[in-house]
Amino acid sequence: MKPLSELAQEEARRIDGVLFDLDDTLLSHGLLTRAAFGALWDLHDAKLRLVAVTGRPSGWGEVIARQWPIDGVVTENGAVHVVREGAGVRLLQSCNERERRTRRIRLAQIIEEVAKVVPEARLADDVGARVSDVTWDIGERVKMPTDRADLIDGAARRFGARTTRSSVHLHASFDEDDKASGAVRFVCERFGVSAGAVLARYAFVGDSGNDSACFSAFRATFGVANVRKYVARIAVPPRFVAAKEMGEGFAEIARTLLAARK
Ligand SMILES: [Mg+2]
Repeated sequence: MKPLSELAQEEARRIDGVLFDLDDTLLSHGLLTRAAFGALWDLHDAKLRLVAVTGRPSGWGEVIARQWPIDGVVTENGAVHVVREGAGVRLLQSCNERERRTRRIRLAQIIEEVAKVVPEARLADDVGARVSDVTWDIGERVKMPTDRADLIDGAARRFGARTTRSSVHLHASFDEDDKASGAVRFVCERFGVSAGAVLARYAFVGDSGNDSACFSAFRATFGVANVRKYVARIAVPPRFVAAKEMGEGFAEIARTLLAARK
């Protein structure tokens, strides 16, 4: 990973938009700081397209898409997209209602199995706002040892679910998208851009294991400083890393990107 000072002017000028993770990237321990929100407005004012790409629920996406200066939110690790439409918001999903019901029944079976295998496992406090996955808390209100989280992971995969972990949550889903394919699909459908152009012209900013697909897929990738904790578990680390952590790091990346485009 290179320091931000090595970002070339030419590369910075090629960027049409910034895709960014929320927890421990834009948000600092769950809080949207003045520095991070100001950076978002600065990127917006510079006419960059902005899309949050998060493991958080579509219910959170509905609020964020309405209130923030951004173009949309890719939620639930790629599965459910939320866009502002007139005075409201619209949810976009890649499967129909009937298939969604079937998948929810299968997810309920996994919840039962996990309760037997890891009795102390607790669902995340945002599951009520989710439509495509089930999520356990492994680092938000509780700190679950890695070997216990591994047991939840194994149980979910035995049922054929796909699993993903962030710094705070473990998700199980039957949806096909990951953060990278979900983000690419969103930008292609929303702005009529080819997948190749999205990968080459959109920057991604993240911090942890569930950003791994995006760090591998996009050309201009940035980590906030706390990404160093996860580098050993990420197949391809981000190309650039900020000196500061979380929201402060996001603001540092935004500043560098905007300065290099001048
Ligand atoms: Mg994160």
